[in-house]
Amino acid sequence: METAGKTQKPHAICVPFPAQGHINPMLKLAILLHHKGFHITFVHTEYNYNRLRKSRCGAAVAPSPDFQFATIPDGLPPPENADSTQDIRSLCLSTEKNCLAPLNELIGKLSHRISSVPPVSCIIGDMAMGFALDAAERIGVPCVLLQTSSACNFMCYKHIIHLVDKGFVPLKDESYLKNGYLETLIDWIPGVIPIRLKEFSNNIRTTNPYDPMLNFLITQFGRSSKAAAIIINTFDDLEQNVLTHLSSICPPIYTVGSLHLLRNQLPANYTLKSMSSSLWKEDPACLNWLDSKPQNSVIYVNFGSITVLNPQQLSEFAWGLAESKRNFMWIVRPDLVQGEKAALPPEFWDEIDDRGFTAGWSPQEQVLGHPAVGGFLTHCGWNSMLESLCNGVPMLCWPFFADQNLNCRYACEEWGVGMEIGGNVKRDEVGFLVRELMDGEKGKMLKKRALEWKKKVAEAVGDCGSSFLNLDRLISEVLSV
Ligand code: UDP
Repeated sequence: METAGKTQKPHAICVPFPAQGHINPMLKLAILLHHKGFHITFVHTEYNYNRLRKSRCGAAVAPSPDFQFATIPDGLPPPENADSTQDIRSLCLSTEKNCLAPLNELIGKLSHRISSVPPVSCIIGDMAMGFALDAAERIGVPCVLLQTSSACNFMCYKHIIHLVDKGFVPLKDESYLKNGYLETLIDWIPGVIPIRLKEFSNNIRTTNPYDPMLNFLITQFGRSSKAAAIIINTFDDLEQNVLTHLSSICPPIYTVGSLHLLRNQLPANYTLKSMSSSLWKEDPACLNWLDSKPQNSVIYVNFGSITVLNPQQLSEFAWGLAESKRNFMWIVRPDLVQGEKAALPPEFWDEIDDRGFTAGWSPQEQVLGHPAVGGFLTHCGWNSMLESLCNGVPMLCWPFFADQNLNCRYACEEWGVGMEIGGNVKRDEVGFLVRELMDGEKGKMLKKRALEWKKKVAEAVGDCGSSFLNLDRLISEVLSV
């Protein structure tokens, strides 16, 4: 970019959706772009920025003059417990309604303030922050949207409008939630395996045609066609079929997954490389405990940043892990149990002794890459699943909401890396499946497939791999134009 004969850096404004599973991949993309010569303004909500400062992770302090953080309000009152994830439904509706004006204001200030900040040249918004498109249009720069979940999920969400047109949604009445209707097979989404209605977002389970979340999803995924390009945190080999179909109905698509592996490949002396964005404080003792355990002997249990259990489910998982007689590491977020402080009873620890370890939050990417970890009991958040695949770790799947039922279906039916735990979790089933995953014949097959995927994703991010090349193409074809 030339100004008065002087070359200036391109300046990307990154606007993640303000939840952990969206901030992490956006930050990795921002780091990669910064390393490639971009000036970055990374926009947090005020609420999250305060939490990041409290959790003392790197992502709250401006790490370099050309990598800056900025904040905008999310429009919500602060929650009672300042350490909990905000309600996602409220956050979607509030950001859509309230965030465009402060983002425009921020861009205005960046344009006028200091001459050392180059003019904004592109905006990268989360798929759920479609107002970023309006902000970009206003100043005449391209807006690219980042899909932080799978390509299949993108395709399915784009088809929610067709579920409405064909009369599947909204549900006729409440009885449809229980009468087996959600088992209805949908086999007409291009490039997607036949899936059940329950594997779409839980937001379609409504009888109200004006349901705000149903309409939020239809609007956001509909307006994605206005983006200059779509970036997806997946890799070609994993989702080739659906990607081919998507490319005929969408703006140009750039698959750059797994972003965390691309980031890991940056030179060790690049100071921003290890910047983390954990909203909870990571417990470093996790890695020390794993060091004391034999290879492939530990099942890692983590339900991500949003899942909540009821006390009964907590107890069934706990006693299931006890009955499995296998080593486990369980990340029990302080707000994991609805309405209560999550705590495991003393008699549980009498039974477990050194066989188990719990912490409030882990450095998950490192944990999944540790040789002691042989399996992952997961809620099937997309980042968690990718991180598991990248490390060749097979999974037990207990999906909770959003895209997780779809991710579970693909992991178990299509990619051959997972087994599902029934929604109504029972300790016997947990114990049996943990043993099967860690030592059984099925577990060995899943491990073999997981290692095959590990190899394929390593190829995708390696020199001349699809994700590696797509990042450069994204820059030369869209972001730097
Ligand atoms: N994560 C982490 N430590 C934890 C739990 C989660 O670092 O103890 C990270 C995890 O590596 C992933 C993100 O938080 O990158 C969670 O995103 P995901 O899509 O898996 O699930 P969500 O939290 O959005 O349901």
